Amino acid sequence: MILSCETARPNFAVLGHTPTAIPLPGSDCCLQPNFSLAELTSFRVGGTADWFVTPRTHHDLQESLAWAQRHDLPITILGAGSNLLISDRGVPGLVLSTRYLKQTSFDSETGQFTASAGEPIPKLAWRVAKRGWKGFEWAVGIPGTVGGAVVMNAGAHQASLSDCLVQVRVMDTAGHILTLTPEMLRYSYRHSSLQGSNFIVLDATFALSPGHERAEVVAETNRNLQKRKQSQPYHLPSCGSVFRNPESHAAGWLIEQLGLKGYQIGGAQVAHRHANFILNCDNATAQDIFNVIRYVQAQVEEHWSLTLQPEVKFLGEF
Ligand SMILES: Cc1cc2nc3c(=O)[nH]c(=O)nc-3n(C[C@H](O)[C@H](O)[C@H](O)COP(=O)(O)OP(=O)(O)OC[C@H]3O[C@@H](n4cnc5c(N)ncnc54)[C@H](O)[C@@H]3O)c2cc1C
Repeated sequence: MILSCETARPNFAVLGHTPTAIPLPGSDCCLQPNFSLAELTSFRVGGTADWFVTPRTHHDLQESLAWAQRHDLPITILGAGSNLLISDRGVPGLVLSTRYLKQTSFDSETGQFTASAGEPIPKLAWRVAKRGWKGFEWAVGIPGTVGGAVVMNAGAHQASLSDCLVQVRVMDTAGHILTLTPEMLRYSYRHSSLQGSNFIVLDATFALSPGHERAEVVAETNRNLQKRKQSQPYHLPSCGSVFRNPESHAAGWLIEQLGLKGYQIGGAQVAHRHANFILNCDNATAQDIFNVIRYVQAQVEEHWSLTLQPEVKFLGEF
């Protein structure tokens, strides 16, 4: 989707007058008022952002941050929106999506590649597989961007992003660019210190193992994708796994044992194929999904004496 200033709906007063789209200085990009976010998330639910922008360059990003600071607005970052539940009441301040920060470079000598925050993870998995580079086959079924995957320490098939990460470049809210090492990001299961920080991921460098038979790496990547398609419901909107796996058992198993597959509130349902997925199966609201999450948590707490921690990030008020 290409956004243009003409697509803005100027009906939201936040700066003391009726706002219209605001072009960023020295850029084709504009700040869009009252912008619907539902289509920018994999759950396909949620309200509007007071303001929304999709920077295409570091300059756009710096200008957007400076504008938010001048107007004292909070900033929220969106990648591909595949691990987010956005409130029906929307998100205050400026929502900034990094999905159009795109560029990738490969170094065949070292097997390292650097990808900008907006690059889709599955596309990268296929690109490196076709070069015969091993080490990213696990990533093929994760429908996020580099930015979101770096923040979440995305992973699958017993591997995770931090296994092959060399460095991350981030921008702080003052527009300065910093380089961070994996050690500085304190990675663990689906966690990095970027969660809850104000840093915006610009790009990340990964080290893989080059020089393998291309067909072999492509076949392994394809096997991983097929495995996931068989075990997980990809046909309806979701955020993937809703809960982190506790140490004792997989969250899906704990939920399934309680007979909660198919449990539904409004248009939100615990998936039949995988109990750790909640599906938007019939025009769910974000509140429907939130209510199912709380119900499942309460049931697991009551029967297993365990508190399931959500992996999905909540934006806005519930
Ligand atoms: C069908 C399906 C299957 C999935 N399977 C998996 C899986 O196997 N393994 C797994 O780990 N995840 C999985 N996920 C969840 C999700 O795809 C990952 O968490 C992914 O890494 C999120 O990336 P994103 O770009 O969509 O980030 P978003 O959902 O947009 O954001 C996630 C978090 O990262 C922050 N963020 C995003 N971009 C930036 C940036 N540039 N700078 C700073 N902060 C940023 C956001 O503020 C938010 O806190 C799945 C999701 C779906 C829908």
